[in-house]
Amino acid sequence: MEQYNPKFNGEWIGKHALVSSCELLNILKRVVACDSVFKNEYTLGLLIADIAREHGLQVERQKVAEGRDNILVTLGADSAYGTTHGLLFHGHYDTVPYLDMPDPLSARVQNNRLWGRGSVDQKGGLVASLCALIAIKRKGIPLKRSLCLAAVVDEESEHRGSFALSESDIRADYAIVTEPTHLKTVEFGHLGSSPIVIRVEGKTAHASVASEGVNAIEKAMLILERLFKMEFPTVNLGELGVAQGTLCVSMMEAGTAYNNVPHEAFIRMDRRTVPGETSESAVAEIEAVIADAKRVDPSMVATVRIERPDWSWPPIIARGLNPALTPSDTPLFDYLQQAASKSGLPSLEKRFSSCYYDMDFLVNDLKIPTLVYGPGDGRLNHSAAEEIDIDDVARAAEIYSELAKELCL
Ligand SMILES: [Zn+2]
Repeated sequence: MEQYNPKFNGEWIGKHALVSSCELLNILKRVVACDSVFKNEYTLGLLIADIAREHGLQVERQKVAEGRDNILVTLGADSAYGTTHGLLFHGHYDTVPYLDMPDPLSARVQNNRLWGRGSVDQKGGLVASLCALIAIKRKGIPLKRSLCLAAVVDEESEHRGSFALSESDIRADYAIVTEPTHLKTVEFGHLGSSPIVIRVEGKTAHASVASEGVNAIEKAMLILERLFKMEFPTVNLGELGVAQGTLCVSMMEAGTAYNNVPHEAFIRMDRRTVPGETSESAVAEIEAVIADAKRVDPSMVATVRIERPDWSWPPIIARGLNPALTPSDTPLFDYLQQAASKSGLPSLEKRFSSCYYDMDFLVNDLKIPTLVYGPGDGRLNHSAAEEIDIDDVARAAEIYSELAKELCL
């Protein structure tokens, strides 16, 4: 097996630093080699808790569902709850399925990169923040403010981990979501995502006497042509750029046999919402589209609801996935930029993302100013070639340690 030759050498993480490059790699390998496809996070939860405890960190398990726990790691307080932390790291430890990825659990090292499902999305960021807590602990200076890492489950599906976290009384001055941004950009917010389905009603008849039935696909066309003409709000976010709402009609289902008139048709869509919009407002717009189609065809029967094929958990259907925004002048960015500069990254780029992140729960429910910043190239998320630059993880751990020092020591 090829060796890792560390090119990054920092004060906190490095060859002879508080946490050695070797130790970091060892933790990363163990975490990536442990299966944690969503709904199957139990074993990795145990492992993260074990590693944290081995290094003298406080560990609590927050039950999310049967065999599915958030792991809350705290330094400088007896519990993750009941204190306002100086800084909260947030990372999900579930992954998407392996799909077409070869050797997804091999955690092999090649060209200073570590291969495996979840290495980028987002075990790299999670391990970096865990190593930062270990480094701060080893520094041995009493903390003025506590430091917490919330390792959550189910981000890739129904977001139950972050939902549970947002229902607890966890508090912090600032939070970092450790999803991959290549350490070059900092995400200040993201679009929301509303999965909407329209059911259009028809009536079955044999195709040879089609006029006896009502063709739901034909009815659906009146709605579809209006959906494709819709316009969505644009919000100018100043230095973060422009946020643009979008709609993608992504799935359709209809019909029971080639020689039957279809009695119902389903149009599914992903409506990406900008700050200021909600799932309810997105649904109301679609209802207006149906009302307009009804003016042309008064016999049209169609209903709208929030529904995603992979969602069955009522609370997330009721809550939805909302847009989030942290003000662009948050002092957290200045602290982060200082910490990154010290490790050789002098100019981070501020951005607003079209990808959805669990920062939604931190910003909107827990009211914590939050930025997304982590190691790895997000373009490799969910891909068959997911691998992470180990130096990138080490540098992230260094920056997180420095940030934690500024905010908590
Ligand atoms: Zn992720």
